[in-house]
Amino acid sequence: MKFEDQRRIMVERHIAGRGIDNPKILAAFEKIPRHIFVPEELQRLSYQDSPLSIGKGQTISQPFIVALMLDLLDLNEEDTVLEIGTGSGYQTALLAEIVKQVFTVERIPELLSKARDIIDSLGYENVYYRVGDGTRGWEKAFPVRKTFNKIVVSAAAPDIPQKLLDQLSDHGVLIIPAGSRYWQKLLQVTKQGNKLEKKEYGQCTFVPLIGNEGWNNQ
Ligand code: SAM
Repeated sequence: MKFEDQRRIMVERHIAGRGIDNPKILAAFEKIPRHIFVPEELQRLSYQDSPLSIGKGQTISQPFIVALMLDLLDLNEEDTVLEIGTGSGYQTALLAEIVKQVFTVERIPELLSKARDIIDSLGYENVYYRVGDGTRGWEKAFPVRKTFNKIVVSAAAPDIPQKLLDQLSDHGVLIIPAGSRYWQKLLQVTKQGNKLEKKEYGQCTFVPLIGNEGWNNQ
C-alpha cells in the first residue's frame, strides 16, 4: 500500500479513531509524511501507532501521543511554541504546519541537523533551531525570545523545569511527561498569574530529559 494511503488509515484509526477531533491537527497528520523522519529500514513501519528508533538511543514518538500532546496544547495559528526534544523533527513539522512560529531545542547535534534538513526540504520557514539543554528553555539563542504561549516537552522529566515555567507566558500552556525515568504522567500546566493549574492525562513512557533540570546522562 502507498505511504499516503497508510497515512490516511493511521489518522482514521489511531488519531481520529481515538478521540482527537481537532481539524487542524488531523489535517497536519494527513499532510506530513512520517516515513521521511524515520531511518529507511524502518519506513515500512512508520504508519503503525508506535515509537520507532531514530538512532543515538532516541525515538520518534508514538503518533497518538504526539496528537494528544498537540491537542492538549490547544493550538491556534497565532501561537509561538517552544518545543524541547526535537528528535526526528516530526512533531516540529506538525507544529510548523499549525502555528505561526516554532522554537525547537535538541541536545544531540546530529539529530537536530538531520531534522532541520528534512523540515527545510518540506519548505517550512517558521522554525528556529538550537542545540543545547532544553531544560534551560530558549537561552542564548537567536532570535531572542523571552516567553512563549505554548511549550511542549517531548522527553521524560523528573519534575517541571522552573526555567520553562519562567518562559511560559501568562495564560500559557505547557505539556510535559513527568515522573520517573521509566514511566510518567502526561501533565497539562496552565499559568494563571502566580498560580499553576495542573491536570493529568494518563501514563506514558518517554526517553529521559537529560540536563540541568532533568536526569543525569547515565
Ligand atoms: N517528538 C520527537 C519526534 O517527533 O521525533 C521525539 C522526541 S524524542 C522522544 C526525545 C528527544 O529529546 C530526544 O531526541 C532527546 O535527545 C531529546 N532530549 C533529551 N533531553 C533533552 C534536553 N535536555 N534538551 C533538549 N533535548 C533533549
